[in-house]
Amino acid sequence: MRIFEQLESEVRGYVRSFPTIFKTAKGSFLWNEDGTKFIDFFSGAGTLNYGHNNPIISQAMIEHLQNDGIVHGLDKATVAKKEFLQTFYDNILAPRNLEYKVQFTGPTGTNAVETALKLARMVKRRSNIIAFTNGYHGLTLGSLAVTGNTFYRDEFYGMRLNADHMPFDGYFGPDVNTVDYLRKFLSDNSSGIDLPAAVILETVQGEGGINVASVEWLQQLAELCREFDILLIVDDIQVGNGRTGNFFSFERAGIKPDMVTVSKSIGGGMPLAMLLMRPELDQWKPGEHTGTFRGNNLAFVAATQALSYWENDDLTEAVRYKGQIMEQELKAIAEKYPQLISDVRGLGMVWGLEIPRSGFAGEIAKECFENDLIIELAGSEDQVVKFLPALTIEEETLREGLAVIDKAIGDLLQ
Ligand code: PMP
Repeated sequence: MRIFEQLESEVRGYVRSFPTIFKTAKGSFLWNEDGTKFIDFFSGAGTLNYGHNNPIISQAMIEHLQNDGIVHGLDKATVAKKEFLQTFYDNILAPRNLEYKVQFTGPTGTNAVETALKLARMVKRRSNIIAFTNGYHGLTLGSLAVTGNTFYRDEFYGMRLNADHMPFDGYFGPDVNTVDYLRKFLSDNSSGIDLPAAVILETVQGEGGINVASVEWLQQLAELCREFDILLIVDDIQVGNGRTGNFFSFERAGIKPDMVTVSKSIGGGMPLAMLLMRPELDQWKPGEHTGTFRGNNLAFVAATQALSYWENDDLTEAVRYKGQIMEQELKAIAEKYPQLISDVRGLGMVWGLEIPRSGFAGEIAKECFENDLIIELAGSEDQVVKFLPALTIEEETLREGLAVIDKAIGDLLQ
């Protein structure tokens, strides 16, 4: 590990959480350079919904390279891009009756968030944005303004975008409807809140601790946005791409956001990020928001294959089935250790265990790592053990990983 300590910035995080050198990966497994096999319940923070080195995705990329397919094409029209757009339309947008235009925004999720915030402000001619407590949208100077956790902030970073954080669903417990709270703030000119261009949210907060917004809350929020002429932006970077059981996380609420940010698993493991916007919002002048790595053609090839999982309902069914296993097993673990686990929550195949005892969730993740299972933490105090296995994980591997958690907690409590 010496070269990492010598050369890589102190900002490195996962190097510390998983202090080993990984070498190969396949499906839901990773191997380190000593040949130890780990089960991956983290999936690159939701980037590997189709598993590591998914054979159909890898094969398509190999063929593309062997045939001298274009890899880097700026925003030129290419065959790889055409096939991706057509497949995205046929398999995702058309069956859901969604009319969106697609803007390729750069390689990483934050680029899509930045684009959405910029476009919303430009279209609405308003500078404020409303975001929510525990929301996570990225750490660059624009996206940082809408990320909740102040751990990521330094007052001397300088100018951040104008943004206010409002309480997410459940923030004050089940009895307070925080959409009413927001409505009151927006209606009352003594609140100090400027009418925003947009509201941005995750329908299930990933980094913020697997907080699931209720269907009613999402519908009421969409209604409030209509009432006040505010754009609704759903950040589906982490819990989109089938994670919650539907391709888009907002489908369960029957709402149609004005914009959607999509990244992580859309690229099947390759870097790809995009903004979906209602066609009338596409008010960019040609070249007004551009950049070098917007739309990598190898990523389009991978993404097109990844989208083949959406030609039928098999993956949706699999997520429902395996999601139920996760729910049952995690609830059984919580019942076994009621003094330790205060809540089990999630949807589809994204779940979290809330561990109020300070630092103990970290102990669990460490113990799991010692037992060859990779899991991560979430929540403002890292108090949630978070589960994001590949959607394609074998049932046996899923159960094996869940058994490691159970054993890790039992061993730590002995
Ligand atoms: N939005 C959400 C909901 C995310 O989970 C993340 C990444 N964890 C981002 C934005 C930022 O994406 P990226 O790290 O790819 O820039």
